[in-house]
Amino acid sequence: MADLTRRQWFQAALPAAALLASCKSVDKGARGSVTVQEFGKLPNGETVQLFILKNKNGIETAITNYGGIIVTLKTYDARGLLADVALGFETLDGYLRPHPYFGAIIGRYGNRIGKARFTLDGVTYRLAKNDGENSLHGGVEGFDKKLWRARTESGPGSQTLVLSYTSPDGEEGYPGTLQTEVRYTLSDDDSFRIDYLATTDKKTVVNLTNHTYFNLKGQGNGDILDHEIQINASRFTPVDEGLIPTGELRPVEGTPFDFRKPARIGARIDADDEQIRRGRGYDHNFVLDREGEGLSLAARVIEPSTGRGLEVWTTEPGMQFYTGNFLDGSLVGKGGKTYPRRSGFCLETQHFPDSPNQPAFPSTVLEPGKEYRSATVWKFVTAQPKK
Ligand code: BGC
Repeated sequence: MADLTRRQWFQAALPAAALLASCKSVDKGARGSVTVQEFGKLPNGETVQLFILKNKNGIETAITNYGGIIVTLKTYDARGLLADVALGFETLDGYLRPHPYFGAIIGRYGNRIGKARFTLDGVTYRLAKNDGENSLHGGVEGFDKKLWRARTESGPGSQTLVLSYTSPDGEEGYPGTLQTEVRYTLSDDDSFRIDYLATTDKKTVVNLTNHTYFNLKGQGNGDILDHEIQINASRFTPVDEGLIPTGELRPVEGTPFDFRKPARIGARIDADDEQIRRGRGYDHNFVLDREGEGLSLAARVIEPSTGRGLEVWTTEPGMQFYTGNFLDGSLVGKGGKTYPRRSGFCLETQHFPDSPNQPAFPSTVLEPGKEYRSATVWKFVTAQPKK
């Protein structure tokens, strides 16, 4: 900024000023705030919104009701510097073009269903094959591509965005009208909570998650190989060549999947291991060592140069650890940054992939009259930076 003339500086600041002016304050808690602005229009003319939730400490997230996508997530490092840790795009247009589910709500079924079919009570349901022979992340037009109804709520010390979507019976091949609600809550204790709720009018399967790609150095600042991760899982679900679980729950002991003690993501990511080869790195569901019924600590990640960290707590039995192996640098993201291979990682809390075809896995069946409920908390933490 130092070498800009006053005029250049003013011109550079103009779009930001216009954006601020267009921000309508819809709600304001004692300390945090929620604002809403227009994010753009869908090809059919519908208006898409962007909600900005801020807590009293200045942690901030911008979320659009298109796909429930987390567009930005700004958290502190150990020196008190904020950085946007979520990969994504500046404008709605970016999200309307093909992209690998940046920040989105995934539904009806997170991850893969083998051969894109499953059977319930003797009826076989066929899904679109959008990943080789298999179905991935809810199909061709999953929940990541829906415009969700949105409202905000302010509580003492928290700001919530409530998104809802009704998926019609038969959508993407799934039975039952699914009423879905996703609540995103940013709290003054520096946590971000996602609550998922769904009901159906016909027996169906459901497995919702969020697909945020994190880079705790700040999005677009290189790869994530030096991040240190701990995953509370003694077992994982090995996969076949199509990344469908074989049904085995394999101990992580003695494998590159043992993160029970903190280790660099990159330490064993190219190990001579069949599972690593199949995932082209980590792209596997970990069977979490849960404690009790409620939220249980699934993972803790620290970026050593900044000390910026993240804990993931969940009610779910599994978590997909995906190291962005399919990113290839071809997408231009926020601030003109590109996202090369392994420049972001995902921690997708979930039931295990392909559960509808794996009777021994925890069930993903939802019956009429019952509620699907799931919660995940991201807790933003810091640690002493390492030189
Ligand atoms: C899957 C990957 C996939 C990625 C983006 C992850 O949840 O496990 O295999 O490439 O999502 O689609």
